[in-house]
Amino acid sequence: MKAAVAVRPGGPEVLELTELPRPKPGRGEALVRLHASSINHVDVWARTGAIPHSGRFPRVLGADGAGTVEEVGDEVDPSVLNTRVLLYPLVTCGSCEPCMEGRENLCDDLKMLGVHLPGTYAEYVKLPAENLVPIPDEMDFTTASTLGVAYLTAWTAVRAADVGVGRSVFIPGATGGFGTAAVRFSLALGATVLASTASPQKAQRLKETGVKHVIDANVRDLAEEVRRVTGGRGVDAALDSVGSATFLQSLRAVRKGGKVVTIGATTGKEVQLDLRFVFANGLNISGVYMGTRKELAEIVKWVTEGRVRPVIDSVYSLEEVAEAHSRVDGRLAFGKVVLRPTGSA
Ligand SMILES: [Zn+2]
Repeated sequence: MKAAVAVRPGGPEVLELTELPRPKPGRGEALVRLHASSINHVDVWARTGAIPHSGRFPRVLGADGAGTVEEVGDEVDPSVLNTRVLLYPLVTCGSCEPCMEGRENLCDDLKMLGVHLPGTYAEYVKLPAENLVPIPDEMDFTTASTLGVAYLTAWTAVRAADVGVGRSVFIPGATGGFGTAAVRFSLALGATVLASTASPQKAQRLKETGVKHVIDANVRDLAEEVRRVTGGRGVDAALDSVGSATFLQSLRAVRKGGKVVTIGATTGKEVQLDLRFVFANGLNISGVYMGTRKELAEIVKWVTEGRVRPVIDSVYSLEEVAEAHSRVDGRLAFGKVVLRPTGSA
């Protein structure tokens, strides 16, 4: 089968197209023929080798994918054959405390496709059959391939932040996969959305989608700007995927008793925190790491019902994988960048 592999840690130039043996599903596993695979920042970390305890190089990247079930191993219900699915990207143990509590995204023995296991930048991927999430005929594979990481994380984040009618939320760097997803969910839930971006073109697109205040990320103090447009009060919540460049500003942008959800650190993972500021203002900081299979199935329902429409930036063939990664690396995309490993998506 055709696959795109990172031959060694490095920039987009380490991605090469190659031929690999088609995987054989084992007991409890299924083989999926991939029609679409979307790119996430975690793929970039997997490419550069920044994730500890991840697999060896060369490695097939890709956590997100959608396609049809081509083959199943022993002990898998054969009725799933030829069905349309998207993939839950986390392979979990099913027996640790978080798994038993139904929070398998926090599994003690977590493995992610494309990081610890062969990923979705390939014509085929094998994975546990319990990771198959059915999608309806009316959902195209490109759309389905965007949901497993960015939309799942955004969904969990808006819930952790109690985003809803009558509440306001600040989303810094709102133009990548997670950011656009968080904006879409927040608007669908009836919240007032404030977002920041450094690009005037992307600012215009955010306004067109219904973001009330788009703040120029080049201003010195994002938090001050958020406070200015909220009459000094601050927002009810902030969803921060940017990390060190914006996290402290997100903290200062929320009102007293407000919530700050951290879900990623694309610009860096370390900040110097004034604890007095946190307790004296009664702030709630919480971390979100993707979500559960059940939550992913809920998102499929929302998208099917048309309550949220994922934002697709661009679609590339597998041969163009390096170019597609450069677009994500360079933060040029507005929404999700998708690869098409086989046929039409
Ligand atoms: Zn577990």
